[in-house]
This record gives sequence, C-alpha cells and structure tokens, in this order.
Amino acid sequence: MSSLRQIDPEISRIIELERKRQQETINLIASENYASRAVLEANGSFLTDKYAEGYPHHRYYGGCENVDEIETLAIERAKKLFCAEHANVQPHAGAQANMASYFALLEYGDTAMGMSLAHGGHMTHGDKITLSGKSYRFISYGVSKETERIDYQEVEKLALEYKPKLIVAGASAYPRIIDFERFRQIADMVGAKLLVDMAHIAGLVAVGLHPTPVPYSDVVTSTTHKTLRGPRSAFVLCRKELAQIIDSAVFPEMQGGPFVHAIAAKAVAFHEALQPSFFEYQRKTLDNAQVLASELQRMGLRLVSGGTDNHLVLVDITAIGVTGKDAQEALGRVGIVINRNAIPFDTRSRWLASGIRLGTPAITSRGFGEAEMKHIAELIVRVISHIGDNAIESQAKEEVSHWCRRFPIPGIDD
Ligand SMILES: *Cc1c(COP(=O)(O)O)cnc(C)c1O
Repeated sequence: MSSLRQIDPEISRIIELERKRQQETINLIASENYASRAVLEANGSFLTDKYAEGYPHHRYYGGCENVDEIETLAIERAKKLFCAEHANVQPHAGAQANMASYFALLEYGDTAMGMSLAHGGHMTHGDKITLSGKSYRFISYGVSKETERIDYQEVEKLALEYKPKLIVAGASAYPRIIDFERFRQIADMVGAKLLVDMAHIAGLVAVGLHPTPVPYSDVVTSTTHKTLRGPRSAFVLCRKELAQIIDSAVFPEMQGGPFVHAIAAKAVAFHEALQPSFFEYQRKTLDNAQVLASELQRMGLRLVSGGTDNHLVLVDITAIGVTGKDAQEALGRVGIVINRNAIPFDTRSRWLASGIRLGTPAITSRGFGEAEMKHIAELIVRVISHIGDNAIESQAKEEVSHWCRRFPIPGIDD
C-alpha cells in the first residue's frame, strides 16, 4: 500500500505543515476543537467509498448491511444523548442541516425570523448573501443596546407584527444562555414553528451545562465539530410527527448520498459524549471561559454583555484603539489564533470589526487550565496593546511555544 507521502508529496508536505501549525499555536477559535483519534480514524476510513442513498433498511444501493448498522447506531446515540424523538444524522454540515429544515417547514417566500448576523447570529439564519435569505423573507432580531442580550421583547414585537411561520433561535457569537422556553412562548403566540440551531453549544447541551432546546423546539439542528468535538458534520433532531418530512428534506431534497465515513465518526463522537468524562471536559471549558473573561476584564477590557455563560467571550477592543483585524493579525504573528468579530451596534465594517471572539473548547481539549488561561489573557492584552513592537511580539511567541510544547493535541499527538 502506498502512503500519501509517496503518492502525493506536495499535499503530504502541506498536511505536515498544518500539523506543525496546529501543534505550535494556541487555538482560541470558538467554533473549532480537536476530535479524538477514534473520531479521526472513523472519518478517514474506507467507509468513504460506500454509496448509501436512502435510510437504514431503505437504500437505493446494495451492500448496505454494515452501513445500516452504523447509521442506526449513530441515530440511536444522538437520540439518547439529547433525549430526542427522532434524529437525522446525514446532513454534511450545519448549513445543509438548516436548509433542509427550512425546506421541511417553509414554502419559498414564507416569512421567518432569525438572529441578525451583526448581533451574533449565523448567516444561514436569513442573511441576504445565503440561500436562506434568498429563499425566504427573513426578519432579523438582535440584542438590546443596553444589556447586549437577546431582546425578547423585540422578538415578541416583531413576531406579532410579521407573523412568521418559523422562528430560528441560536447563534455563533453570543456569550449568554438562550432562553428557549421564552422563544417557544413567542412562537406559540403567533402559531410559528421553532427551530433551534445549537451548533455552538451542542456539547454543553449534551451534558446539561446549557439548558436543552429539545423539549421546546419543533426542530433542532447542530454541527458536530464545535463544542461537541466530533467530525466536521451535522445532524437534525425533531419530534416524531416531523420525522418523515425532515428525512425527505435532507435526502433527496437537499443532499444525495450520505457521507458514511462522517456518519461513523459522528456515532463515535456521540459515544464519547455519553461518557462521564465528557461532562468534566465541558465543565472545564466553561471554567476556562470564566477565567479568561474575568482576567480580561481585570485588565480593563470590555466584554460584550459583561461576561459569559458559555464557552466564548466577545471582547470589545475599541478602547485599545485597534481594529479586530489588526488584533487578529498581531495575535496570529505570535501564534494565538482567533477571529475578529463584529460587536453589536459596531461602527466598523464587518471586515475590520471592533471585537475579537475567543473560545475555550479547543485549548480545553488540549488540557489548558486556569493558570494557562490567566497567562493567555495577559498575553493577548500585551500583544494587542503593542501592535508592531517586535520585541514584545517575539517574547510573546516564545511564551506561546512554551505552552504548546507542554500540551499535546488529542488526535494528533496521541
Ligand atoms: C457553525 C454554525 C453553522 C454552520 O455550520 P457549517 O458546518 O459551517 O455549515 C450553523 N449555525 C450556527 C449557529 C453555527 O455556529
């Protein structure tokens, strides 16, 4: 058997560079994580070769007896993990899970509501540049200017005014607990369905560290690669009554053949998430976010909404006098990988942005704890307060290397 290095030295070399990059940098991207070796093994397996259009025991291809078992296990584990009546584990990614759910619940041109991208929502919740925004009439809600938390009164007012057929809750850059019960009440006032996209917080929901949306929602969508620490993929949960329309919206309306390798990897990730150690991991992720938040505040930075309840903090760096873009680039030079992010009511463009989003799922998988978080917070402030100072940057880079050598990456180094 030929190895990748022999067959394709070019790609092999770049993959090795990426391994090194991951090992030598501190990853604070809130939507990333490190999947276990077991997840990577399933995901990289020869299951990639199998066609399995359809669902377990109803396939359009022969030879599906083993993949039927794999998909059935993935479904059963997803249902158990989230106490759901039905699970579809075929969506390739979060965007497809959301689009398929819209196909199931809406007709083209229908009115829906979603959280504004500028206030922390995801672009697939109706942003004009996406298929969701082009296919449906999405009305955006956001956070209140004073509290920077979701303005439920505004959500209610907009719902009463526009009578949406669907309300979408869930976010990508929102550091607070989302009140799903409140969303349900609002949806019921206008006879709307409720879809919760828990992509970011699925790992916290799985262990009960964020209230579950499942009892309050008609449909729940999620990715599997963020706090849930699985492969790059997604799934949909729903009530039994909706099972059939969700399944036919995922396949054949949205997608063709499922990625059987990804389904196997999702099954492994669900299995890992059902273990007691997964609770401990999520607990530490939250603890680390708390330490990061309080240290940044102690050093004078303003956090959007004043803190965090989950795995991420959104930092307003306006006071330092640099843009999010400059901060992202300076931190990148010292080996701290983050993303710039608009803050609510941002006066800068989304390209420049006034904020940075920092998340703890990946570094917590790596074993970073309280002492490291304090040091990282101090490093971040030091670097973004002295952008372009070579001495400061090279000293910071040394410190980053020190921590990275001490904390191997699950899936890569084990
Ligand atoms: C990440 C994310 C998605 C999209 O996931 P992809 O797998 O990148 O398509 C959808 N919704 C929310 C809330 C997200 O955070």
